[in-house]
Amino acid sequence: MKKIIIGNFKMNTVPSEFKTYAMTLATKVRGTKNEVVVCPPFTHLSFAKEFLGGSSVAYGAQNISAEENGAFTGEISAKMIKDLGATYVIIGHSDRRGMYKESDKTINKKIKTALANGLKVVLCVGESLQIRESKQAQNFVRKQIDDDLKGIYENELESVVIAYEPIWAIGTGKNATDKDISKMSEVIRKEIETQFSAKAAQNITIVYGGSVGIKNYKKILSNPSIDGVLIGSACLDVDDFSLMARETY
Ligand code: PEP
Repeated sequence: MKKIIIGNFKMNTVPSEFKTYAMTLATKVRGTKNEVVVCPPFTHLSFAKEFLGGSSVAYGAQNISAEENGAFTGEISAKMIKDLGATYVIIGHSDRRGMYKESDKTINKKIKTALANGLKVVLCVGESLQIRESKQAQNFVRKQIDDDLKGIYENELESVVIAYEPIWAIGTGKNATDKDISKMSEVIRKEIETQFSAKAAQNITIVYGGSVGIKNYKKILSNPSIDGVLIGSACLDVDDFSLMARETY
């Protein structure tokens, strides 16, 4: 079964290091039937175009502005990354929701901007430990899905990947259990069914992210309720990331 394997560099590495990374990754994953996507920092995207363009590896950014263009000093637009050949953008990562106070309203606007510019969106959702402990995780994720996808047309969901990334599992070494992942995946599909249709729920792409690495990726990827994984820290090692990206089911 084809899976989607997405790497999020976060704010790591410098552009010159990415050249070797990209060339190695393209070579190592050649022939895999999985979809491999790498999201380095903005500064690396021109190297991504040079060294991944024409390969089977897709690439994207970790954020975009909600605005199209104009007086937004320091921001990067959807068109800019598109011009560099990016096909994906991560939107609503918990780092941005938490540290940069991105609201669901802003995330919704960013998703619309990305889709209008022909980009595919990796929408991150997921609860904090406090929310989980108060047994509100499902309601919380449902509301994120509703607010973030408000006004999106059903046919646009083809270009949306939902990444369930419980905050307590990101960068902590404590991945969610198979049961947690299956349950939340079911909740997400049900919510997509309520907001869109049964067909949309069946077709939506859902991935899991949170401490996926070389020790647990096989087990996590073999969970039939998800279509792939979003890998943070562990994607920085190109050998490990390639190995995980090549896994077949
Ligand atoms: C992430 O930052 O999206 C992530 C999943 O990180 P990690 O794999 O390091 O937990």
